[in-house]
Amino acid sequence: MSVPQERRLLTRIPGPLSLERLERKKRYVADGVGTMLPVSIVRAGGGILEDVDGNRLIDLGSGIAVTTVGNAAPAVVRNVVEQAEAFTHTCFMITPYEGYIDVCAALAELTPGEHAKKSALFNSGAEAVENAVKIARVATGRDAVAVFDHAYHGRTNLTMAMTAKNQPYKNGFGPFAAEVYRAPMSYPLHDGLSGEQAAARAIDVLDKQVGTGNLACVVIEPIQGEGGFIVPAPGFLPRIAQWCRDNGVLFVADEIQTGFCRTGDWFACDDEGVVPDLVTTAKGIAGGLPLAAVTGRAELMDAVHGGGLGGTYGGNPIACAAALGAVEEMRERDLAARAAAIGALMRDRLTSMAAEHDVIIDVRGRGAMQAIELGTRDASGAVTPDAARTAAVSARCHAEGVVTLTCGTWGNVFRFLPPLSISDDLLGEALDVVAEAFAATA
Ligand SMILES: *Cc1c(COP(=O)(O)O)cnc(C)c1O
Repeated sequence: MSVPQERRLLTRIPGPLSLERLERKKRYVADGVGTMLPVSIVRAGGGILEDVDGNRLIDLGSGIAVTTVGNAAPAVVRNVVEQAEAFTHTCFMITPYEGYIDVCAALAELTPGEHAKKSALFNSGAEAVENAVKIARVATGRDAVAVFDHAYHGRTNLTMAMTAKNQPYKNGFGPFAAEVYRAPMSYPLHDGLSGEQAAARAIDVLDKQVGTGNLACVVIEPIQGEGGFIVPAPGFLPRIAQWCRDNGVLFVADEIQTGFCRTGDWFACDDEGVVPDLVTTAKGIAGGLPLAAVTGRAELMDAVHGGGLGGTYGGNPIACAAALGAVEEMRERDLAARAAAIGALMRDRLTSMAAEHDVIIDVRGRGAMQAIELGTRDASGAVTPDAARTAAVSARCHAEGVVTLTCGTWGNVFRFLPPLSISDDLLGEALDVVAEAFAATA
């Protein structure tokens, strides 16, 4: 591994060279494209991001759950270089190549369920979600799409409609796509409902306000990502999936953030044995290269007319080669088990932090996808979010060289998404810094 695995602060964060580059960014890059922590990265690997000033930061974000196998993971780099030397693009719809088919075969094998599956490949998560809806509409002959409170599905027009949070994702960008309806999510900390109760509540809203017979699909993140790492109460997902099955509604799992070993299984649906009709994947699929997929029951995927799915770059050969390298790393290093071990370590540390700091009112997540929610709870259980403290702790972590991400409808959730290539020592040190940041901002 070329990047030394140690946190090292040579300058303030961001350092002078990063600040110079930030000035250039301000001049040439649209302001709408934000940067959370403007350190300019020159190399990365293991659990470290190294910036242009020579600082080495511990990565607890994986570029939003993308570099699950680690940055510049060996099998990914090898495959990318070999493929780039062979050819870089033909367009699969014009003259095909084997890597695309290999990725679809891997998806058929790895995604939940033993049924015959087929896939179509795209460039981004949002594009995969859009295509899942296209497929569901053709396959069912229905229009309506159900999504949930706190959902995040992307930033294209249809997926903005499906995403819950207004700022920054939607504000001013409407009008949005029609026939998207929102149901209440299971959010145990806030609603106190069992999975069965929360599912009954959601089903009632959909049946009474949309009409079950109008629904093409229910699209749901098995653990919500941007919305706050919300883990639904046990039984919620199986109940919704069963109701879908009973009523000819397709159950679409958006596993873009949760998929590919992140939660300690290949997919988050595996935890309760939920078998979706369609699955969307992206982020962790290709070790950092842009690739996304819709995978589903063969007869549903084949409902779409020839030529109805595709795109110029979808399933680009280099991205496919990277995905095959990423899957190889996941298999050979048993990264699902590694995610579970990282999860146990994080859970332990975060639980002790919560015992010391009342502002931490929930520790939740699964595998290497853990979160803490900040706020206060009154006697009735009502939650008042604390976004200010979240921002203060976050700023402190960044200044100390630990890249932490926040999320949540109220901006009061820390989400921890380390690359699965991080060492226990580095992860422990990063969590020490988080703990110190809580103490320092008390
Ligand atoms: C990130 C994300 C998307 C959108 O993916 P992009 O590649 O950014 O378009 C969709 N769904 C979920 C659950 C995500 O986390």
